[in-house]
Amino acid sequence: MDSRMLESYACGRWHRATDEGRAVISPVDGAEVARVSSTGLDVAAMAAYARETGGPALAALTFHERAAALKALGLTLMAGKAEFYAESARTGATERDSGVDVDGGFGTLLSYASKAKRELPNDVIHLDGPVEQLGKKGTFLARHVHTSRRGVAVQINAYNFPVWGFLEKLAPAFIAGVPTIVKPATQTAYLTELVFRRIIESGLLPEGSVQLLCGDPAPLLDALGGQDSVAFTGSAHTAATLRAHPALVANSVHFTAEADSLNASVLGADVTTDAPEFELYVKQLTTEMTVKAGQKCTAIRRALVPEAMVEAVIEAARARLDRVVVGAPGSEGVTMGPVVSLAQRTDVLAAVDKLRGAAELVVGDPDDLAVVGGDPATGAYLPPMLLRSTDPEAPEVHGIEAFGPVATVIGYRDTAHAVELIARGGGSLVASLVTADPRLAREVLLGIAPYHGRLLVLNAEDARESTGHGSPLPVLVHGGPGRAGGGEELGGIRGVLHHMQRTAIQSTPEVLAAATGQWVAGAPRAEGDEHPFRKSLAELRLGDTIVGGPRTVTLADIGHFADFTGDTFYAHTDPEAAAANPLFGGIVAHGYLVVSLAAGLFVDPAPGPVLANFGVDSLRFLTPVRADDALTVTLTAKQITPRSGADYGEVRWDAVVTNQDGAPVATYDVLTLVAKTRDGGEE
Ligand code: NDP
Repeated sequence: MDSRMLESYACGRWHRATDEGRAVISPVDGAEVARVSSTGLDVAAMAAYARETGGPALAALTFHERAAALKALGLTLMAGKAEFYAESARTGATERDSGVDVDGGFGTLLSYASKAKRELPNDVIHLDGPVEQLGKKGTFLARHVHTSRRGVAVQINAYNFPVWGFLEKLAPAFIAGVPTIVKPATQTAYLTELVFRRIIESGLLPEGSVQLLCGDPAPLLDALGGQDSVAFTGSAHTAATLRAHPALVANSVHFTAEADSLNASVLGADVTTDAPEFELYVKQLTTEMTVKAGQKCTAIRRALVPEAMVEAVIEAARARLDRVVVGAPGSEGVTMGPVVSLAQRTDVLAAVDKLRGAAELVVGDPDDLAVVGGDPATGAYLPPMLLRSTDPEAPEVHGIEAFGPVATVIGYRDTAHAVELIARGGGSLVASLVTADPRLAREVLLGIAPYHGRLLVLNAEDARESTGHGSPLPVLVHGGPGRAGGGEELGGIRGVLHHMQRTAIQSTPEVLAAATGQWVAGAPRAEGDEHPFRKSLAELRLGDTIVGGPRTVTLADIGHFADFTGDTFYAHTDPEAAAANPLFGGIVAHGYLVVSLAAGLFVDPAPGPVLANFGVDSLRFLTPVRADDALTVTLTAKQITPRSGADYGEVRWDAVVTNQDGAPVATYDVLTLVAKTRDGGEE
């Protein structure tokens, strides 16, 4: 295959550098794959273009519309994945490795699209937490809101996930309404560039919302300001350099890093060699060593096992690692490809040499390696290498990361010792514990959680469904403290909010309702002639209200409800026992009876735009209801959310049930689905 000059996608067009650039060599066969350069590219103009063209284009879309674009993109890319697999093989990735990167990346787009549609409103503002009442009379309230930052999200990626790496950062920023500039690692930028070309060709994303920078990002960093962000994945050394970058520091640019870490996997002290968990532990260890040839930021570097189990674990791992076939991806039987470059192989071997100061190499000999379909002289091939620590406390085994198919088995004395050893890693992305003992799990989890972004407890019960130690998931946070970079990505909507500014807004109920799109108590209510349930989504307004009642509750009502439902709890049925109850002091109505009666008071029974009640939120019973109490309900339209692509939307109603003294008896939100028009069609 020919080498090609990679281009950057900047300011709405593809840019080709004015010089020959740097050659990128395939680790499979030593052939040149691509050339990379950004010479002649005005990178500061890219930042301005993102802010001035991409930002406004995204701001014009609601969360749901952005989600629909991401979903369409994910499906389009997935349908054409064969060509990405072919390019991915040139990076040294086997089919299994490409699945993690390519399918994992597209799956992340789809996951974010689905989360945003379900968990965010069809709006551009996100509400954070409840209304805070600041004044006694209720005229001065506050609420926190999230709005999209007006800057650009710059991402600087590592070489090991050329597809997933940029999409996992792009998806949350895009949903947040912030344009992105992607800077791929040079060594594997050709795969990122190919996927990017298909994204631009699809025309599914608004112009300016994504740009690609193949080459040097340094001038871009100088152009960033307080509305911008940088998300970095790569070495701790580069993370430290970027963190101290003068422009980033001077302008308080949001900076987050995900750097290398020495992730641990612990074999619980309860596990014997004949327990299913033993096999699970060893299999997970060898899988993590060999997927992507161990070049995963989440791979297991430290295998902590009880001292008495060290030999058994090494022998079981050896049996599995002996079956690994190293070679060119796609060649007959190959299960592990090369690392990403000859330079990376040199780095890994140097790290293994340093580790050997405190550990001995027990599996894998880099000088005696059979390679299928490749030549170790030109390709960056390595065997999986397992070490056994000779000193569990030695700083080398907790500090040196060999970013390749390498792990060290470390014996621990007891669980407290294991916890203490894990902490020596200084903060990691992930750790796993293999145990069938929930109490042991709690002890370890509480001990090590402060040092990790994600923890997996694996055993025979969850093994079949487990997504594994090394897989970051779009719905779970990815990142870790200290050595792991101190950043956090993904985590579902949490990742979206990283790109938004949280602001506390203080004002009257009416202003808060207008600003946030959600009615709050104290804001005007409108009680018209027409029942709000007769109004379509297009006609309904925030504050539209129906007041129902009063309705007197009788002792017979309470007895009937108890008999009918079978809820004969003594407080509703036994006067003597109820009288002794310190909270009630006598018979009280069931809370669910109160809610049912309230529905009877506010509902409009005839067929109409209201299609269904799909639940209640935040139900609280505040004052006991006794026989002869008279209930009134006030139902107010609180939030109106049209669903994109459907002929109905959601209406959240504020419900307050009061007694004859005006005391609140129950408060809750009623959730309904309402047709967009009276005849049931789209607006
Ligand atoms: P680097 O930190 O060197 O590079 C990561 C990214 O940063 C690349 O896109 C690189 O661009 C860019 N970069 C490098 N220097 C600068 C700079 N001064 N200013 C702005 N951008 C910069 O990591 P590598 O990819 O070379 O990997 C080195 C080591 O990092 C690995 O051996 C491993 O230990 C660790 N690593 C950790 C990963 C993780 O996920 N936590 C992933 C990959 C690696 P360019 O490629 O053009 O130089």
